[in-house]
Order: sequence, then C-alpha cells, then structure tokens
Amino acid sequence: MIRFDAVSKNYPNGTTAVDGLSLELAEGGLTVLVGPSGCGKTTTLRMVNRMVEPSAGTVSLGGRDIREVAAPELRRGIGYVIQHAGLFPHRTVLDNVATVPLLLGWGKKKARSRAAELLELVGLPATMAKRYPYQLSGGQQQRVGVARALGADPPVLLMDEPFSAVDPIVRGELQAEFLRLQKELHKTIVFVTHDIDEAIKLGDHIAVFRTGGKLAQFDTPEKLLEH
Ligand code: ADP
Ligand code: ADP
Repeated sequence: MIRFDAVSKNYPNGTTAVDGLSLELAEGGLTVLVGPSGCGKTTTLRMVNRMVEPSAGTVSLGGRDIREVAAPELRRGIGYVIQHAGLFPHRTVLDNVATVPLLLGWGKKKARSRAAELLELVGLPATMAKRYPYQLSGGQQQRVGVARALGADPPVLLMDEPFSAVDPIVRGELQAEFLRLQKELHKTIVFVTHDIDEAIKLGDHIAVFRTGGKLAQFDTPEKLLEH
C-alpha cells in the first residue's frame, strides 16, 4: 500500500538522512520504524505525506506515485500524530478535534458531533471536551492528537514517537488502547520509535534502521527475536 523504491534523502547541508530505501508496507498493517536517534526514521515518515521530498527514488501510495496525488487529497488521506500533540493552544479539546471535519466543509454542528465521537473512540471522558490543551495531562493530550488525526477518517496514519513523552505507566496504557483501536479501525500505520520494546509490542512488521539511514532489517517481531 505504501511503497518506497530506491528512496534517498540528502538534506542541503550534506547530511544523508535516508540511503537507498526500498520497502513495501501492506494495507492495514502496523509497521514500526525503529533505530537510534538520527538514523532517518522521521525523514522516512515525512516522505510519505510530502513534508519532505526525496532526493531520489519514488514513494507511492496505493500504486500511485505520491507526486501525482493532489495535496488536499494527500492531507485528507494521511493522518499525522507527533510527540507533543501539537494541539492548538487557544482552542478547546472539542474544537481541536473538530478542525479537520470543519476544513472538509462539514457544518459546525456535524463537525462537533463527529469530534465528540472521536474523543470517545480514543477513551477521553466527555467532561474533557470543553477544556483547553494545557488543562490536560500529557497522555490525555496525546489521545486528543490521535482523535484529531482521525478526523478525516484517513486510511493511513503516520505516528512519530506519539507516546514517548509520557511516563511509562501512561505509555503502557496508551499502547494497549492503541492496539485495541487498531483492531477496530484497520488503518495502515507507520509508527516511529527509538524504543525497541515498544516496536516489538506494537508492530506487526518492524523496519530496523541503522545510523546513516540504511535499512538493516525488515521482518515480523517474531522473526527478529529469533536472531
Ligand atoms: P530520526 O528520526 O531517526 O532521529 P531524522 O530523520 O530526524 O532521524 O534525521 C536523520 C538525519 O538527518 C540526522 O542526521 C538529522 O540531523 C538530519 N536532518 C533531519 N532533518 C534535517 C533538516 N531539515 N536539515 C538538515 N538535516 C536534517
Ligand atoms: P505547507 O505545504 O503549507 O508548507 P507543511 O507540509 O509544511 O505545509 O505542513 C504544515 C503543517 O501541517 C505542519 O506543521 C505539519 O505538522 C502539518 N501537516 C503536514 N502534513 C500533515 C498531514 N498529512 N496531516 C496532518 N498534519 C499535517
């Protein structure tokens, strides 16, 4: 569903962030990109939604070169979740989540009821909807970030260290609920982490990167643990 063909990224300062990546990710799968800091995980993720343009090679989505997919279609089709949820500080939780449905042209009332549904889906109590982001814990903010990313019901979700900034107990809860959610939603997910335990817990496939932006291994967690 997501395919990288001989993809490289060299930043203008001369850094090779990704070096000759070829990889195919199945529809409905949860692939974790793992490896040490600076090995090119975020760059790889951002080449899927064109936040970063490859220097060479082709990224395709459902068989189409992403350069041929119009920007609005790409935005709607790909949800994006980052480490610090990146919520709009001056909007309530509900309005943060309603942003995408509003942009899609839904009426205000419909957008808000959709937002309320999404908040319920990610396990956030309805009483939180009227709060502002700073009035939530880090773990709750990440739930809102996931709900917001699901706004357009995108088939693809890109997640960049979404649970790394919260304490280990909350992280465990978020991971477990995220797995439950994925069973229900069957999104095609690309998930970045530097934590190999998290990779093994969540991924149905794991892509191990090494310093210099090269793919070292790509396999199921079971197969990786055999070696
Ligand atoms: P990771 O997500 O694995 O930590 P990144 O993809 O963020 O790795 O970065 C890979 C390499 O590219 C690193 O050496 C990083 O410093 C460099 N890099 C990332 N973004 C930029 C940029 N915008 N300009 C120049 N170098 C960058
Ligand atoms: P532009 O094309 O207007 O320069 P960017 O691609 O740089 O926009 O993205 C602008 C902001 O939108 C970024 O801060 C990024 O976090 C967010 N963003 C980019 N792509 C997506 C996406 N597919 N889903 C959600 N947010 C996105």
